[in-house]
Amino acid sequence: MNKQAVLIDHDGALLTPEGWEANYLAQYGIDWRVYQCRSEQEVLKVARDAQVIIIQTTVPLLTRNVLSQLPNCRCTVRAGAGYDSIDYIAASELGIMVCYTPTYCTDEVADHAMTLLLAANRHVARLDAAVRAGKFSRNLAAPTEGLWGATVGIIGLGRIGSAFARRLTGWEPVLLAYDPYITQEYANQFRVKLVSLDELLERSDMLSVHCPLTPETTHLLDWAQFRKMKPGMVLVNTARGPIIHEPALVQAVKDNTVRAAGLDVFEQEPLPVDSPLFALDRVVLTPHISATSSQARHKLYVLVCELVRAVFTGQRPAFLVNPQVLERPRQP
Ligand code: NAD
Repeated sequence: MNKQAVLIDHDGALLTPEGWEANYLAQYGIDWRVYQCRSEQEVLKVARDAQVIIIQTTVPLLTRNVLSQLPNCRCTVRAGAGYDSIDYIAASELGIMVCYTPTYCTDEVADHAMTLLLAANRHVARLDAAVRAGKFSRNLAAPTEGLWGATVGIIGLGRIGSAFARRLTGWEPVLLAYDPYITQEYANQFRVKLVSLDELLERSDMLSVHCPLTPETTHLLDWAQFRKMKPGMVLVNTARGPIIHEPALVQAVKDNTVRAAGLDVFEQEPLPVDSPLFALDRVVLTPHISATSSQARHKLYVLVCELVRAVFTGQRPAFLVNPQVLERPRQP
């Protein structure tokens, strides 16, 4: 059987492959193909012969239904830092490896979280819109608070959360984090104090979300959590939309619990045209682009090609989420 790796994306506008990948993989006899797919049926059509399927989109196209109908698939790779667009439980049950590329954009996402924090706190988006509309007025700049010495909360002190913490140190903030899977000893290197979620919400002037989307973190910030937040806080989310219950956030912005917010990710993407978020000018919106930079794009494809090469040369691929499948891999 041909060694075939297929990259599928949903819209593909931002992160199209760089062009060298096919030649690189051809050295190992691997046939590399790239497709746009908007439905499970389209994936089934293009990935029938592929042993490795790389998914670039966060749209969950590699479902149990799809994976169980692709008997040749031995490995799925999320070309990205979260792998929630692959049904990794189904993949594990089917003996399919699940890999991802978590290190390609750590700095970019931390930079974007900082950008959203500063832009939201100082209302850059609505001031820019007002100036362009001929209103050279300072009224829209309020309310804003100084960042110096603020208490900044981080949910998820992993790669991106800790990179975000490092960027903040110049403002000499009080840094708090909620992360049930790390120790205080680990957090000390970033000068962060670990606290409970309740304490984080009660004390944070600004809060940035950096945990993965899992069943445990879905709607981690719901109505009850917004009620515990320090009134007038600033909220940033560059992780995944469903971690925040959007109707609760909208209400919190309206009643000024959340003075300003910066969002790169949403419960539904693209953001539906009737989303109430559009009416809130204290919320800065970007279209899930935190990971973007030409350096990150290059790193992404280097990582993807290394993973594909490893699978076809019988090596253990890096960033394997479900190593238990190595004990009982899928049989062709
Ligand atoms: P990471 O695995 O290095 O860190 C995640 C941290 O979250 C870990 O320390 C983990 O212990 C913690 N965590 C897990 N469950 C938690 C919970 N229930 N409550 C609090 N903390 C919890 O991951 P990372 O590289 O820092 O990336 C974080 C997330 O950012 C990714 O999962 C991805 O969804 C998102 N991301 C978004 C973009 C984007 O374009 N907007 C790009 C890259 C990553």
